[in-house]
Amino acid sequence: MIDAECIVVGAGPVGMLAALLCVQQGSSVLLLEQTAERHFQSRAIGITPPSLEILRSIGLAGQFIEQGVAVRVSKAFGDGMQLGIIDFSGLAGDFRFVLSLPQDRTEALLEGAVLKNPAIRFRRGHQVLECSEDGDRVIVSGTSADSGTFRFSGRYLLACDGGKSAIRDSLGIPFEGAPQRYTFLMGDYEDTTGWGPQARFFATGRGSVESFPLPDNQRRYVIRTPYFIKEYSGDYLGSELLKRAGVDVSGTGQLWESGFGVQSYVARDFCKGRVFLCGDAAHLMTPVGGQNMNIGFADAELAAWLTRLLIEDKAPYRLCAGLYNKARKRAVRAAYRRSRALMVLGTSGGSVWSFIRAVAAFIIMKTPLRQILVQTFSMQTIPFRNLDNFRKRYERELNL
Ligand SMILES: Cc1cc2nc3c(=O)[nH]c(=O)nc-3n(C[C@H](O)[C@H](O)[C@H](O)COP(=O)(O)OP(=O)(O)OC[C@H]3O[C@@H](n4cnc5c(N)ncnc54)[C@H](O)[C@@H]3O)c2cc1C
Repeated sequence: MIDAECIVVGAGPVGMLAALLCVQQGSSVLLLEQTAERHFQSRAIGITPPSLEILRSIGLAGQFIEQGVAVRVSKAFGDGMQLGIIDFSGLAGDFRFVLSLPQDRTEALLEGAVLKNPAIRFRRGHQVLECSEDGDRVIVSGTSADSGTFRFSGRYLLACDGGKSAIRDSLGIPFEGAPQRYTFLMGDYEDTTGWGPQARFFATGRGSVESFPLPDNQRRYVIRTPYFIKEYSGDYLGSELLKRAGVDVSGTGQLWESGFGVQSYVARDFCKGRVFLCGDAAHLMTPVGGQNMNIGFADAELAAWLTRLLIEDKAPYRLCAGLYNKARKRAVRAAYRRSRALMVLGTSGGSVWSFIRAVAAFIIMKTPLRQILVQTFSMQTIPFRNLDNFRKRYERELNL
């Protein structure tokens, strides 16, 4: 007897999407989350076209688009001059924009769908402490708010329990990497800029400013900072926005502010035994470029599909595990390279570097080379960006 075919640990954005995708593939799901309530932070805001395709496959893209802001144009500025425009409207496919939606809203939409789905047993207040295997079952145990302890079994486990993954640690999978020296400060404000649904990027000698529209006439600003401070005293963010980009936020309501450092880690194995790592449990990278959650969505889609093949004995375990490792690591490496390049080249200050960057950016944006930027921000050329892309490459190898 098993409790569910797939156990998903962690109900962040990746875990909830994984649960929905497993059910869509035909698997029964037990979803375990340690917290009693959803968190309300607007962290990841960029949902790229490949992720919208995944959301469409479970009938959610429409709701996401209704609640978010479709960013079709992003303008780049240097010190006092416009460098160029990144225009997503020429993208291939149905989603010719990057959707801006705060992570708490993404999670609310996913949780709404999870709670409505009778094939998902969702248990909040359940912290998984250990994971082991017994024959053809995977077993998780831990403590729960209501019954004290629990022990559940399933055929496969999708570990979506974030960067500090207890599952990854209990399997002894090394998480290789290091904190980076880059630090940022972000804040959400009421939007009085008049820029509408445009994103704007300012690469100035004093440092960078990224600015994104949010729903409900709000706007996110992110600035590179000289060192990490969780909460700045006074109106540091407001005064830097004015000095770097000429944006005056005085008198507009600030809704949220948070400093963050950048970490860069990748799990040595993305699949071990009956466990598939997805999302931050498998990889952490800079939020600049907004790729990590989107890569996590594609992890979840592939893990849900492969576990179903395994449950139905349609493909050998070694091949599925090997392909998951190979494909997801390739996607992560590509996203890592791109987001790091955007962070290092785009956000560094200094007048000499700023001048060189302005000239280079000006040239790139006036030539067809600007397509590189369009593809990078939209994640359209990330390898294995969704299941269709993976199946085209590996269906024959899987003998399907
Ligand atoms: C400031 C900031 C800005 C960002 N901006 C972007 C962006 O624009 N675009 C983008 O793609 N990404 C962005 N990211 C990254 C993004 O927030 C993460 O990639 C995303 O949250 C990962 O989702 P996840 O579900 O894998 O992990 P998490 O969101 O960490 O969720 C993990 C869940 O597992 C639960 N859990 C943990 N351990 C256990 C356990 N032992 N038992 C049960 N439950 C457990 C946790 O409570 C949590 O609910 C940003 C991150 C930060 C910090």
